[in-house]
Amino acid sequence: MQYYSLQNPQHRVSFREAVIQGLAPDKGLYFPMQLPRLEKDFIERLEEYDPLYIGRHVIAPFIGDEIPEHQLKQIVSETLSFPFPLREVEPNVYALELFHGPTLAFKDVGARFMAGCLGYFRKHDPRPVTVLVATSGDTGGAVANGFYNVPGVNVVILYPSGKVSALQEKQLTTLGGNITALEIQGTFDDCQRMVKTAFLDQELQEQYLLTSANSINVARWLPQMFYYFLAYRKIKQWKKDVVFAVPSGNFGNICAGMLAAQMGLPIAHFVAATNVNDTVPRFLQNGQYAPNAAVPTLSNAMDVADPSNFVRILQLFSKSETALKAKLSSYSFTDNETVSAIESVFAEHHYLMEPHGAVGYLGLKQYLQQSPNNVGIFLETAHPVKFDDTMPEQLRSEIHVPEKVKQLYNREKQSVLLPNDYEALKSWMMAVPAR
Ligand SMILES: *Cc1c(COP(=O)(O)O)cnc(C)c1O
Repeated sequence: MQYYSLQNPQHRVSFREAVIQGLAPDKGLYFPMQLPRLEKDFIERLEEYDPLYIGRHVIAPFIGDEIPEHQLKQIVSETLSFPFPLREVEPNVYALELFHGPTLAFKDVGARFMAGCLGYFRKHDPRPVTVLVATSGDTGGAVANGFYNVPGVNVVILYPSGKVSALQEKQLTTLGGNITALEIQGTFDDCQRMVKTAFLDQELQEQYLLTSANSINVARWLPQMFYYFLAYRKIKQWKKDVVFAVPSGNFGNICAGMLAAQMGLPIAHFVAATNVNDTVPRFLQNGQYAPNAAVPTLSNAMDVADPSNFVRILQLFSKSETALKAKLSSYSFTDNETVSAIESVFAEHHYLMEPHGAVGYLGLKQYLQQSPNNVGIFLETAHPVKFDDTMPEQLRSEIHVPEKVKQLYNREKQSVLLPNDYEALKSWMMAVPAR
């Protein structure tokens, strides 16, 4: 499969190049040249296939012959190595739990798939590639874990000192090996700015082969289709119209679901639920795409004012706003509404949501008011333990702490403390031999 830059349709690369580069040189996002259609028979018999086969079958056309079949089989089985349970929360409302992976966030899926692809593409290359990534919390852990011990790949993660949760910091800083955590005395935006500057620095490029692992990379975006297929497989026999509500920040996750629908997965409608960073809900209201400055909220992994993947969603609908609106609704919710939802769902149904999933739940409920005959699935994108410091206090004791988390707390943090200054990052990187 070839991919083109959304900034310039003439610029085309292979899957391999798109994965290694991340972003096109003109800063455009890569988009597949064709949108494959799955055979009707495959969808009709979905429940007969096992999840690993489904994963391989839906991703294969996006890769073509660039990864051999046995290798792809391995990558998909490492990606889908944990369960994606669907839990009934209340009648017609289900939570698709995406947090049973190694770092308890849905980003594990994309990070593991990308690590598998990049590891394969770089296997025979003597020069290591360095993944440089800034994180506000969840991405860093998933990337660190996914790339840990992948030969030929080193990872450098920048995170804002004192601004990630205690658990997130442990996930970032305790692996060692090919993973280095740089603790920056600044904000997430500072970290991101330093990473962006590094990608433009010629001198650094001479010493390093740099790539990024954020959600714009096609190898992180595409595998997120998997769990929409797996969820649909479980409820197909109900023969009801299915709506997915996705708590959205950079809009990569929902964009993958919408791609699955275009490939033939019968999803009736999508709801993009946001916190008060509401650029997309406003756009669907008034047709103006006008990002404000990002506002911090309890669902902080969605504090994004200008979602990178929204251009991909527009492209899926050939930029037709009418076609898009027929398939997508979008609503925003405040922190107060989010906390109330967490409390009332726990009180009434004994199901504990964390702030991101709760925003998804609220979006779903709002849509179901107008379409009560649909069955709704909201994506619960992280485990409540990851956000235990922002959960309502009286519910914190209800959080079940998974065994793998308990072990993490005993491990020792290893990080390099750096000032909020690009030159500090650069001199650290130039001084580290042979990375
Ligand atoms: C990253 C993240 C999101 C937002 O996903 P996008 O693909 O950026 O829209 C939602 N919830 C959690 C917990 C996340 O880490």
